[in-house]
Amino acid sequence: MSHCAECDLRGCKTYEEDKTLRDCPGKDKPIQEQAAALFQEPDSLRMARAAAQVEAEGYGQLCRMEEIILFCKKLGFQKLGLVFCTGLSKEAATVSRILRYHGFDVASVLCKNGSHPKSSIGLTCDETLSGNDLEVMCNPIGQALVMNQENVDFNILLGLCVGHDTLCLKYLDAPATVLAVKDRRTGHNPLAAIYLADGYYRKRLFPEQDKA
Ligand code: SF4
Repeated sequence: MSHCAECDLRGCKTYEEDKTLRDCPGKDKPIQEQAAALFQEPDSLRMARAAAQVEAEGYGQLCRMEEIILFCKKLGFQKLGLVFCTGLSKEAATVSRILRYHGFDVASVLCKNGSHPKSSIGLTCDETLSGNDLEVMCNPIGQALVMNQENVDFNILLGLCVGHDTLCLKYLDAPATVLAVKDRRTGHNPLAAIYLADGYYRKRLFPEQDKA
């Protein structure tokens, strides 16, 4: 099993083989050869090069929105899909305005498109926020299908919920990136809880740890 999260050697960052774990994924030759070959596929090669160029050109200077714009320009993407959550409608309008200002065509789609009731996926009244199974559900599959039909070059996800983003990414045809994720508790900054995992969030993230 791969354990990079627990490795403090980081030999992979400098080709220092002796500074790698015994089960370092870098030692898995078939995987690494397959990855290297896949990087040579034209679309992947262009995207990998553009990503590295954006990293080098904007390192520590450009915000993510600027990096997305630069990435899209480098790859010649013209029509962008903005896939967003109703809770971030105001932000979506701003993002659309920014992208259009920079010359892109923007198709956008809200999570509630289609107005499907939660009962249609078998949810009961108890499993809804309002206590009514006619509550409109999020429709990330619909969002993906709309963007596929729009034939966008690239998708930008903004504020989709956990799992809804999973479904959307599963069905999107064009490549995608994430501008922001949904985290109602932290103002859409999930790392706030991670930074505080040994502080204010300790009891919530490690509930049993202090009981022993
Ligand atoms: S790839 Fe190897 S050296 Fe790099 S973090 Fe993972 S285990 Fe450590």
